[in-house]
Amino acid sequence: MTETINVQAATRAFLARTEEHLVSYLEACVHCGLCADACHFHEASGDPRHTPAYKLFPMAKAYRGQKFPYNLIAPKITEKDLKEWEELLFDTCTMCGRCTTVCPMGIDIASIVGQARQAFVAAGLGPEDLMQAAQNSKDHGSALNVTPERFADRLEWLEDENEVPIPVDKPKADILLTISSIETMKYPDSIVAMAKILNHAGVSWTTSTKGYEATNFGYLAGRGDIAKIMVNRIVEAAEACGAKTVVIPECGHAYGVLRWGAANMIGRALPFEVLHISEFMAKLKREGKLKLTPVKESITYHDPCQISRRGGATEDARYLLDGFAEDFREMTPTGNLNWCCGGGGGVQAIGRTAELRHKVFKIKIDQVEKTGASTLVSSCSNCRLTMDESKEALHWGGGLGSLVELIADHLVENESVVAAAE
Ligand code: SF4
Ligand code: SF4
Repeated sequence: MTETINVQAATRAFLARTEEHLVSYLEACVHCGLCADACHFHEASGDPRHTPAYKLFPMAKAYRGQKFPYNLIAPKITEKDLKEWEELLFDTCTMCGRCTTVCPMGIDIASIVGQARQAFVAAGLGPEDLMQAAQNSKDHGSALNVTPERFADRLEWLEDENEVPIPVDKPKADILLTISSIETMKYPDSIVAMAKILNHAGVSWTTSTKGYEATNFGYLAGRGDIAKIMVNRIVEAAEACGAKTVVIPECGHAYGVLRWGAANMIGRALPFEVLHISEFMAKLKREGKLKLTPVKESITYHDPCQISRRGGATEDARYLLDGFAEDFREMTPTGNLNWCCGGGGGVQAIGRTAELRHKVFKIKIDQVEKTGASTLVSSCSNCRLTMDESKEALHWGGGLGSLVELIADHLVENESVVAAAE
């Protein structure tokens, strides 16, 4: 692929995506700079290039330069531009949406970054490790090469080791549980925890070797074709077993893509409801199907951006913790304004971002230490991985954990201990 073709392909892809709402965003920025302090990357680095509004420039430049071809003073997109922008769009935006909460014009920079990433991919650009993760998802079933056979073997091993039934490929089930490959390879206790909770609630459920991978690296890498394949695998697996509900595990973008983006990707309504595991556990609690012993230790909660701010499930985690975590302490800011972990949007998969991610984690350390809580719990395995790596790199002594594992560790069959359900 020649340099010229790369630039032309990128420009065409940019222009193909300058849909009405994106154009209005590009035109609406009043350059007030309010978004700068809302972005964790700018907060951590102090680099003015990490200002959210700066990330609009690739599309704005392509739009202004190419939509008006007779405007001879309009700037043209160049190969040099593309290389500089790759770092801005992939390495320094987690598509967390925090900047939009302060923007007086309501500009959704996260969605513009998502579109711009697709343009890069169309030009054959983009971080190699993120592109490989997407390709692995298409070719082998998951970013971490968890093939269907490996997935089934892993679940069988977890079932035997933990003496917890984990159904695979049941012909009929009300609920299809999907899993993140980060959990399969790094946090298998999360899978066991979800199985314990589903079994405890007495619901009809299964996993499927046809559609098991929740994390959609096609979306994160700007590969719309792979994103659609990943979504279709889950849809077809759910249809095959007649599932009315698809449960997304502790993964933020997996939830955002399937809950809010999938129907548009496949061109039809999803034939099931989509619930994140924290929403599903909250539902079980409301229905009186979740009985828990209380947690005594001090706990704070990290809101994954795609589940809380951009997902709408902020209150379900609090509902779960209410009356269960006896010493729960909120961070400031929290909920829909919580600081991102720094590794969402595929940034975690880009190796060269590690140092910047560690700087971002210092914001989180400061937040947690102000609460005095001994453990920071999250409900996203990608956040958890990001924070675990930074914790190690920075030699931080605070505790990190998972909401689903915390709940599973405190399940009881004896309602007289503590009835968490209302
Ligand atoms: S979406 Fe998040 S990471 Fe991206 S520019 Fe806005 S605040 Fe920064
Ligand atoms: S806050 Fe909104 S209007 Fe102001 S500079 Fe940022 S993107 Fe532009």
